[in-house]
Amino acid sequence: MSKGRFAWLGLCLAACSLEGGATTRLEAEPARSSTGAAAAAARDAELDAFITRIVRDADQSWEGDFRRRNKPYQSAQAVTFSTRSPNACARVGLVPAAGCQDASAVYVDLDFQRALAKRYGDDAAAPGAYAIAHAMGHHVQKVIGLDRKAAELVAQRPVAAHSVELQLELQADCLAGVWARVSKSGALPRERVEDALKQASEIGAQRRLERDDSRALETFTYAIPRRRLYWFAKGYGSAKLEDCDPFASD
Ligand SMILES: [Zn+2]
Repeated sequence: MSKGRFAWLGLCLAACSLEGGATTRLEAEPARSSTGAAAAAARDAELDAFITRIVRDADQSWEGDFRRRNKPYQSAQAVTFSTRSPNACARVGLVPAAGCQDASAVYVDLDFQRALAKRYGDDAAAPGAYAIAHAMGHHVQKVIGLDRKAAELVAQRPVAAHSVELQLELQADCLAGVWARVSKSGALPRERVEDALKQASEIGAQRRLERDDSRALETFTYAIPRRRLYWFAKGYGSAKLEDCDPFASD
């Protein structure tokens, strides 16, 4: 990654560590060989700071949004994990695994961010921010209790599970669009949105090929790109949570 793209890093490393709420690493990762370990650690530090910055930006945006609407909000805390050390709490699904009830945790797949950076270099910030904003969309769903409602719906009508999960994914994209519109971070500018969704999907498809259990992780391949872009644009266009209704006809 270039220095330019992460020019904010110096500021963030100085300021973010004082503000609290920095990214938490879920578990220790296997030790790397000494060759290149320092470079890899530096890249991870950049990614950690990037993730912390985007989650904080989105968290503050959503907190303000809920406050304006006089609704209670649960602040988010980024928790990164590695797919080489998968954690049950980070699995994608309607029903959280037992012991995974932390209402503030937003699970961010560090390997996904690493893969984006490796493939796209300087262009990885936009798809990286999109993936994190999408995860924050799932956090907002938890805050408004939509995850529980969806789980109840599926319990009553198991045949609807795929449809419900798809709508939740598209809503998370719509909510990511709401954030992108109001964010001052500049991480996901309008002209980069279409490519960013495509790049995230390409890395997701690559992971599906590489991993047998990729269904348990975010892959961004859950719908045709046109539909994902449609819902992202819907949120971006109105910047309103209430326009991101997953169960309304689209
Ligand atoms: Zn998702």
